[in-house]
Amino acid sequence: MSELTPKTMGQQFGRRSWAEPWKIKMVEPLTVTSREQRERALTEAGYNTFLLRSEDVYIDLLTDSGTNAMSDRQWAGIMLGDEAYAGSRNFYHLEEAVQTYYGYKYMVPTHQGRGAEHLISQVAIKHGQYVPGNMYFTTTRLHQELAGGIFVDVIIDEAHDATSLHPFKGNIDLDKLKALIKREGAGRIAYVSLAGTVNMAGGQPVSLANVKALRALCDQHGLKIYLDATRMMENAFFIQEREAGYADHSIAAILKEFCGYTDGAWMSAKKDNLVNIGGWLAVNDSDLFEEIRNLVVVYEGLHTYGGLAGRDMEAMAIGIAEGVQDAHIRSRIGQVRYLGELLTDWGIPIVLPIGGHAIFLDARRFYPHIPQSEFPAQTLAAELYLDSGIRSMERGVVSAGRDPETGDHHYPKLELTRLTIPRRVYTQAHMDVVAESVKAVYDVRAQTRGLKMVFEPKYLRFFQARFERL
Ligand SMILES: *Cc1c(COP(=O)(O)O)cnc(C)c1O
Repeated sequence: MSELTPKTMGQQFGRRSWAEPWKIKMVEPLTVTSREQRERALTEAGYNTFLLRSEDVYIDLLTDSGTNAMSDRQWAGIMLGDEAYAGSRNFYHLEEAVQTYYGYKYMVPTHQGRGAEHLISQVAIKHGQYVPGNMYFTTTRLHQELAGGIFVDVIIDEAHDATSLHPFKGNIDLDKLKALIKREGAGRIAYVSLAGTVNMAGGQPVSLANVKALRALCDQHGLKIYLDATRMMENAFFIQEREAGYADHSIAAILKEFCGYTDGAWMSAKKDNLVNIGGWLAVNDSDLFEEIRNLVVVYEGLHTYGGLAGRDMEAMAIGIAEGVQDAHIRSRIGQVRYLGELLTDWGIPIVLPIGGHAIFLDARRFYPHIPQSEFPAQTLAAELYLDSGIRSMERGVVSAGRDPETGDHHYPKLELTRLTIPRRVYTQAHMDVVAESVKAVYDVRAQTRGLKMVFEPKYLRFFQARFERL
């Protein structure tokens, strides 16, 4: 596998360079703050970038969740909202889009991804069952645990190594899964929780060969596979680029083939589906769907709106069709790589290969003198904000939380600060400014001290924890 650069990506598709397949019709002004203002804002926010006001942020790379720029077609779709309580025509449009592009039979909308994670966890996990997955995701694992499940990481070892160049670092290690089945028996496993482009590993993809082999293994043992499809379109791009035999398959064809090896999927439409709010849960089994359709009424809303307005469902249906276009994904990932290559050219340690939605700075190598108990990735996010007003987020020991059994911190191997790129929002000049700020913080790294946690919430602590400088 030779990794394509933003320049050669374009050449491969017959142009000199990739460029955005859209032009800008409306702009939103940004605020530039002084270092003094940022010092004050960060202290008030307890050194947690989640607690900053967006008005105090210049370039916001906190997340690619719900931060998408919608197209003129999607905004036009907003005006076509059918706000009937039941049976809105926008629901049927959304259902058709999920069936057409993802291939699942039955679907309910949810207010966002975690609404769908809650439902699938409640209907498919019995207390004390194991839920093997390709690395954890924060909200996914929490809902599995709240339903009585025990998460087991079965991702390949390379995923935990920020320097490994494996082309499919999101793959499941089938031997780890076989060992779990042998030790506990298939009856004690709820299902396999498979995620496309593994967020916590740095946006790393799963290969089609891996999901095919997983399907065969699960069939032998009567196990279901449920897919976190949140960034599955981006996963399809990496298959097209790296997996033998798929270079001339469209993203749409690869997406549908991949989903065909799974039994259902949950979705945070705030990512790949190019909207600001929404999600869905889809399955092929009609009995399971009956249970889901009943439960959605309790927690989200009637099964034809699931916590969304009709207009939200319309924007999502249009967003699904736009998000799966090859030109869109190529420019999306091209922009992420552009930033990543500026940083690697300057010798700044990041997770490689460069993933789909974000650049992950390797805080262990960035701040080798700050021990993990002093939150190096949280520190790096704070320093970046102070330098230039860029907002990033921690994906390390704070995000990993505590072991529910022992109460100790989880100490993940990966201690990362994520620069997440919203879809269709920023320009290449913004990426230059971001890279220069990371370089400025890197140049003074030896003088930087870590943080101590002074407030810790019970659930998903990274969102609301507070810190002070050591
Ligand atoms: C964002 C995300 C979720 C949760 O979705 P929300 O819409 O934020 O509730 C689940 N899985 C992955 C991989 C995500 O990135």
